Amino acid sequence: MDKYFTFDRINNDRILSFYSRKPVDFGGKALEAGGRENLIESIESDFGYKFRAVKQCTRQVHGDRVVIIDEQNLQEETGEADGLVTDLRGVALEIHTADCQSVFLYDPVRKVIGNVHSGWKGTVQKIAPKAAQIMTDHYGCDPRDIEIYINPSILGCCFEIEEDVVEQFRSIVDVSKYCRKDRVVNGRQKYYMDTAQINRDLLMQMGIPEGNIFLSGICTMCGRKEYHSYRGDHHVTGRNGSMICLK
Ligand SMILES: [Zn+2]
Repeated sequence: MDKYFTFDRINNDRILSFYSRKPVDFGGKALEAGGRENLIESIESDFGYKFRAVKQCTRQVHGDRVVIIDEQNLQEETGEADGLVTDLRGVALEIHTADCQSVFLYDPVRKVIGNVHSGWKGTVQKIAPKAAQIMTDHYGCDPRDIEIYINPSILGCCFEIEEDVVEQFRSIVDVSKYCRKDRVVNGRQKYYMDTAQINRDLLMQMGIPEGNIFLSGICTMCGRKEYHSYRGDHHVTGRNGSMICLK
């Protein structure tokens, strides 16, 4: 199963989940001419499981809209969105990333799952906590039961930013905890920031226990031989796909 990174805790007889590795590609070109059908079939074959449906966002736009997938809208397009939640069994929730975070949410008590695309813009807009809030408001989940799994993404070792992005984060967190000042290039101060740590802390603030939050610890840019990395591959790259599905 070298084609997939998985968290063992959510890959068993009750739940299927993964984050794909190269050469698996969920990007545009790779999916033309029947490529998507082949891709889904190969995943089903690899995991020995047939999905009832696979839901993706019609277009991921670095926003904070999370769509609840139910029987009524299962066959419809989601429109622009960056997060999906459901309690339907057999329905895989799919997100595409290349350096951004894909964050899985799972309540084993209420049996509700979520998958969100949280790049730095989505993190500033708190899309992961918003998905958790939808789980509590719509499905009656207790935040103390919700488990969080942050897939491989660009981490503090490689996520170089400038003052404009740091400023955005000042509105939601004490950036000094997550941000490291680096060199000055052409008069511009460079920083390195760990947005996975920020997401973890935002989720803890809404009552999700620290012990329920699992980080892969894998940086996609350091690991660009194994993962598509927007920055590591110099912006011409495929997409890592992630899915979570209640069996
Ligand atoms: Zn790195």
